[in-house]
Amino acid sequence: MKKKKKLYEGRSKKLYILDDSDQLIQEFKDDASIFEGKKAEVIKGKGVINKEISAFLFEYLEGFHIPTHFIKNLSGREMLIKHLEMIPIKIIMRNIATGSLCERYGLEVGKELNPPIMEFYLKHDECYDPMINQTHIVAFELASTDEIRIIERMTSKVNAVLKSFFLRRNLKLVHFKLEYGRYKNKILLGDEISLDTCRLWDVSTETNQIREKFRYDQKVDLTDYEEIKKRIFQ
Ligand code: C5P
Repeated sequence: MKKKKKLYEGRSKKLYILDDSDQLIQEFKDDASIFEGKKAEVIKGKGVINKEISAFLFEYLEGFHIPTHFIKNLSGREMLIKHLEMIPIKIIMRNIATGSLCERYGLEVGKELNPPIMEFYLKHDECYDPMINQTHIVAFELASTDEIRIIERMTSKVNAVLKSFFLRRNLKLVHFKLEYGRYKNKILLGDEISLDTCRLWDVSTETNQIREKFRYDQKVDLTDYEEIKKRIFQ
């Protein structure tokens, strides 16, 4: 398979367009970033692990009839995906309060959120990805009311499936980020589901895993990624 040309390079991924134009190669980089790229470092080997986990989870979700952009796993840091028209919104689903939610609303870290909280953020670097609601999304013509309804339903289903998946591995799914896009008149789950987009806590110790360590200036290295990968593929 030949990479045709680079279509996009973000902080953690590159996309290449293929001759067969509705397919892309998604390449996972070793760069780690947080706070819209304000803090960044390279963790050698992280890209391959995130690719393996993302490929595995996309296939797993497809098994629960959740449509995704995933086509097949490729070697190294690459996977083959459908070329979506991305909706420039990040959906954050939160099961346990931490991070900015606690800062914003004065909540105690670790509070179980029932129902889980679904937040929407506009992908807009210069505006630091501000939080928006469903009326912003429609008024800004980013997605229709029907599309939002589908996205909400899919996100809740992804949450239910992944929560129990991780719990069986002694990990609590604290929160995670999803992105969606359009493909042949359908909404598909896109982007990645990896250790850079999910925050996980160990059930027994409530130890904060990768994203939180990174956020609070603790040293994150490849062994953190390898340790969780081992548990996922147990
Ligand atoms: O800091 P906070 O608790 O809001 O982070 C929750 C998750 O949402 C993190 O994975 C963070 O990277 C993501 N997030 C984001 N864009 C925002 C706010 C949060 O990707 N504007």
